[in-house]
Amino acid sequence: MSIQSNFIKSIMETDLETKKHSEIITRFPPEPNGFLHIGHARAIITNFELANSFGGKTNLRFDDTNPSKEDDIFVQNIISDIRWLGYEPDGIYYASDYFEEMYERACILIKKGLAYVDESSPEDIKNMRGSTGTKGVESPYRNRSIDENMTLFQAMKDGKKEEGSCVLRAKIDMSSPNMNMRDPVIYRISFDHHHHRGNDWVIYPMYDFAHPIEDAIEGITHSLCSLEFEDHRPLYDWVVRETEMPKVPRQIEFGRLTIENTVMSKRYLRQLVEENKVVGWDDPRMPTLKGLRRRGYTPEAIRRFILESGLSKINSTIDSSMLDAALRDDLNLKAPRLMAVKDPLKVIITNYPENQVEMLEVELHPDIESLGTRSIPFSRELYIEREDFEIEKPNKKYKRLYLGGEVRLFHAYFITCTKVIYKKDGSIDYLEATYDIETKSGSGFDARKPNGTIHFVEATQAVPVTFNVFGPMVLDEEEGDIISRFKEDSWQTYQGYAEPYITSLNIEDKCQFKRLGFYTIDKETNNHEIFINEIVTLKSSK
Ligand code: ATP
Ligand code: MG
Repeated sequence: MSIQSNFIKSIMETDLETKKHSEIITRFPPEPNGFLHIGHARAIITNFELANSFGGKTNLRFDDTNPSKEDDIFVQNIISDIRWLGYEPDGIYYASDYFEEMYERACILIKKGLAYVDESSPEDIKNMRGSTGTKGVESPYRNRSIDENMTLFQAMKDGKKEEGSCVLRAKIDMSSPNMNMRDPVIYRISFDHHHHRGNDWVIYPMYDFAHPIEDAIEGITHSLCSLEFEDHRPLYDWVVRETEMPKVPRQIEFGRLTIENTVMSKRYLRQLVEENKVVGWDDPRMPTLKGLRRRGYTPEAIRRFILESGLSKINSTIDSSMLDAALRDDLNLKAPRLMAVKDPLKVIITNYPENQVEMLEVELHPDIESLGTRSIPFSRELYIEREDFEIEKPNKKYKRLYLGGEVRLFHAYFITCTKVIYKKDGSIDYLEATYDIETKSGSGFDARKPNGTIHFVEATQAVPVTFNVFGPMVLDEEEGDIISRFKEDSWQTYQGYAEPYITSLNIEDKCQFKRLGFYTIDKETNNHEIFINEIVTLKSSK
């Protein structure tokens, strides 16, 4: 599946046809201050797929201009996540490697009378900028001489000025209706250690100044970003022009991806991690790529979901069932079919010989012969799903077991429930049933129609497993801050059993448990315990 036509692709086509560009070069520019989430996947896939469709290039560039929040751990995980999604950047760059050039470019602005050192307090600067309805007020430092500005900027760079004591501002227009053009701050002082540049620098460029220069240095032709940067575009163009960058990139905005009931902001995700609401950035409920991966989502399904949801100029909220559908489509093609019970109810087959276990040879996937077969045991003691039994058949549509009723067990025999054994508290302890040897799967028996087909796990060789089942961490309709909205019950566990073949699967392997859904082996699994994550159920519950 490749990228559909969209408004950005059309622009690129025109730019190649008119020879404005001979090659398409895009970039994905994350700030290494957190882990990537599925919203970033839209930006990654869009950038790589658009460039690929024209034989172009895509850079990964860390927009690392804010030392206090960034860390190399995020850098490394971003790289591995992009590779996991299936993309290899043409180059991996760091904005902080361009600090020397950015400094020179800032000096060009000063020398043109287009930047000045402002010693007003941050609060005064904020107040002087005014608001959308009112004009801004010019700073008393706005008309310093070029020489004075050069000297002060040099002093900032040399660490002779205190943090917060002054900033460099672009001199643009304090009465512009676009707040971004009201003399934006372009450099600030910070003595924090930088994960990539160490203590080389004590002045750091602001995003709006740094980003266009980074793009221009790399010869990015189309700088794609999400919609919230639309109002920054005039400043982007101003910086490229006034700093006299030889190459001119073009910023184009696209709508952000939002999925219903899904937190899609690094800031909130970070809060959930820091306040221990989740077990980490890779908690299977997290929409981070690490979380989705642990949950069992595949890169193929994520790519398909992003490509199918298209690219629009406006922000859109997408129904999560679309992602589920992409997962089912992908997993259906590759996941072996196994049997497991999530909520076990024991059944004793009273007419089956004691101490006998027969092995049934069953294919792993109905459409992929090359996956081969495995043996599943059958004996006098089995587990079925508690919800597959009712004392009385409740209605005609009910196609499961009931007292006196007969069902087919997948790959095995028909059984008829003959007795219900209760515990002291009145709940069901176990069932007794009889099987009919004539009805063995594959024998062609068709004299009676059973009341449905259910799955089972043979009891003596059943492997105990813990099922992890996940729901949304927050619901869109609930109000309040992220911590108070967090649903503590969004991770449910069940103690169940799986057929013996489960022990041959490794962490991250996927399978389908018949009638239940698609599952993967969680990373907590070890030689003593197996943890299984529900990826998605078989049918949409909506
Ligand atoms: P967040 O808002 O979650 O903190 P961010 O935008 O601050 O994310 P960056 O590291 O700056 O995170 O993002 C890198 C790129 O990913 C940016 O170009 C941004 O536009 C894009 N991006 C982030 N979130 C989304 C989203 N939900 N949909 C589409 N693109 C996104
Ligand atoms: Mg951002």
